[in-house]
Amino acid sequence: MSTPLPHPTGPRSYRTLLSPLDLGRFEVRNRIVMGSMHVGLEDRTSDAKKLAAYLGERARGGVGLIVTGGFSPDRTGRLTPRGAEANDRTLRGHEVITREVHEADGRIILQLLHAGRYAFHPLAASARSGRSPLSPFRARRLTRRGVGRTVEHFAGASHRAIEAGYDGVEIMGSEGYLLNQFLAPTTNRRRDRWGRGSEGRRALPLAIAAAVRAAIGPDSLLSYRISLLDLVPGGQTWAETATLARGLTERGVDVLSTGIGWHEARVPTIVTSVPRAAFAEQTGMLREIVDVPVVASNRIHDPAVAEQVLASGQADLISMARPLLADPHLPAKLGDGRASQVVACISCNQACLDKVFEGKRASCLVNPRAGHETELVLQPVTQRRARKVAVVGAGPAGLEAALAAAERGHVVTLFEATEELGGQLRLAARIPGKEDYAQALQSWRMRLAAAGVGIRLGFRPSAKDLLGFHDVIVATGVIPRVVDLPADDGPQVISYADLLEGRAEAGPRVAIIGAGGIGVDVAEYLTSARPSPTLDTETWKAHWGVVDADEHRGGVAPRDHRATIDEGSLAREVHLLQRKETRIGAGLGRTTGWVHRAELRRAGIIEHRGVTYQRVDAEGLHILEEDTERVVEVDTVVVCAGQVSVNDLAEKVVAARSGRTPRVHVVGGADVAAELDAERAIRQAVEVAASL
Ligand code: NAP
Ligand code: SF4
Repeated sequence: MSTPLPHPTGPRSYRTLLSPLDLGRFEVRNRIVMGSMHVGLEDRTSDAKKLAAYLGERARGGVGLIVTGGFSPDRTGRLTPRGAEANDRTLRGHEVITREVHEADGRIILQLLHAGRYAFHPLAASARSGRSPLSPFRARRLTRRGVGRTVEHFAGASHRAIEAGYDGVEIMGSEGYLLNQFLAPTTNRRRDRWGRGSEGRRALPLAIAAAVRAAIGPDSLLSYRISLLDLVPGGQTWAETATLARGLTERGVDVLSTGIGWHEARVPTIVTSVPRAAFAEQTGMLREIVDVPVVASNRIHDPAVAEQVLASGQADLISMARPLLADPHLPAKLGDGRASQVVACISCNQACLDKVFEGKRASCLVNPRAGHETELVLQPVTQRRARKVAVVGAGPAGLEAALAAAERGHVVTLFEATEELGGQLRLAARIPGKEDYAQALQSWRMRLAAAGVGIRLGFRPSAKDLLGFHDVIVATGVIPRVVDLPADDGPQVISYADLLEGRAEAGPRVAIIGAGGIGVDVAEYLTSARPSPTLDTETWKAHWGVVDADEHRGGVAPRDHRATIDEGSLAREVHLLQRKETRIGAGLGRTTGWVHRAELRRAGIIEHRGVTYQRVDAEGLHILEEDTERVVEVDTVVVCAGQVSVNDLAEKVVAARSGRTPRVHVVGGADVAAELDAERAIRQAVEVAASL
């Protein structure tokens, strides 16, 4: 199935998505499920109020059903030594959470997650002993008694969840955690009743489902997150998954929520370059064989795509975790005609999953209030207290500063020297696989208009032009760093901005100076197939080796069976260079960097580390590599060596003003260009807007 990108504003009606559904135990007000996502507020009881504010805001925003982040049923199953556990002490504090959600007419269930061999501590236990690629700790083999106790722990934790006011529980049976480890032959070679044949491997999830159903009683919801495609060699076949699904419903599971890919899978499943709704076809296959509601997930972040998936009969509900981090009011906006103002998640993972994997609290790049609802507050101001605010520069920081200030009630004018909004983000949208960034920009445009921000494009205000404002927010951003490289004829030397803006073209042999985020993006831009595989699900699946799970266990083909996308690929010899000795792309995000590194390898990019740049002449780019002089013979050198701030306006306004007005604030790249970072830029912009 190929999913075309819908028009950014989507269909006019979200009739199916917004219609209520009877889940057997109770009705949900619409088909939008906030899928489980750990945000780092689950681990400490003292954070319960912050978690309540975070989830409460989503409930007030209209979501049908919320699934909490994962809580372990016991100490062994915790993700980290101090990770979330559903014990008496922690769940006692959860009444504040369930009350907040219920007061907003929402429904909430607690997810129970046993990490198995993914646990990051010495108590880790699994179907067999051994280490996973994700944890340095060797898991011990659970004894037969240990398995039995695990079943009891799931039941006990479920009972406590209901006592704390939850409407039910979800059993986490996907993403490669304990239950997957029992289900897959690659991780379960037991010969006892918990591992003998596929029936034995299924025994633990089925026993847990039955025990949890008995523990929560007839009025509470039981959801099971099932792995439809493990995407690891030696995972489950489709026939095994289908048998498991039927067995679960026979044991009282009310809803099957679907997951794709174990965390250790080497096929991307949620990053920006994954096609929209890439795995909805698998959910449709499940829906055909069970008679309980089925939830689709994975890159269904655009409500228009969600509506398509429901309307095509592939699912009954849609799981949206990151989209609700980006916009807690997404369901309400769809309901009252503000669909075009939904804050678009760009699946970057930068402020959410990457942070969680670093042990930090998650937030959202395009919504820094996410997870910080009690700390970063945008108080409305009365008309009398409204200030006249000028924002100069319409990159991510400027856009967000203007928006947040205007939404508070200030009178805002946004100045942009070029004819378009977006700054560096506009360049990112041109990279194959980052097509969604354009939708984020469209959402900013619509929200700025709705908030009444005055926009002056193609105008570069002087200090004098700004003296009539109470506040001036300087968000003039950055310009690409120019590298001091003696050049005597030879290859043309251009910046990444020249290339991506179309002011210059690259020849067939290219050297890229600088292998940070933008250098890697440019390497992909220069070699990726056109049209981008992200826009065609079948091509993308062939590229990553995603196949029928009955053909190859786990639904992933061995490497030598995979298609290479020669057709449409730009045949270029590309060299990617950096001065550091570290691995190329080492500074990229934890959850996204490996995808980029795999693409670089696949495209045959030639990497050079620890180099010194010498000069450019008719022979090419001269470098020193491992103390040896060599020439990289190319026709184009693209400089991706970071950026420098553009902030001289701030000083000019300070020099021109009389007294202390206007107040001057510098945000984003104009403030700090080193490691230019959209997450930091946007957060800083909102903090300044909150302080006006
Ligand atoms: P960056 O990540 O700071 O990388 C610039 C690279 O240029 C550095 O790694 C540095 O490597 C090199 N460099 C710096 N000064 C130089 C000089 N004077 N001469 C030669 N080389 C020099 O900046 P970026 O690539 O422009 O990315 C900007 C921001 O956007 C970053 O925060 C980045 O993480 C983010 N971003 C991320 C992604 C992604 O995650 N996929 C994509 C795009 C952008 P050496 O010193 O080793 O040579
Ligand atoms: Fe989406 Fe990025 Fe925000 Fe995460 S940080 S919710 S991926 S926009």
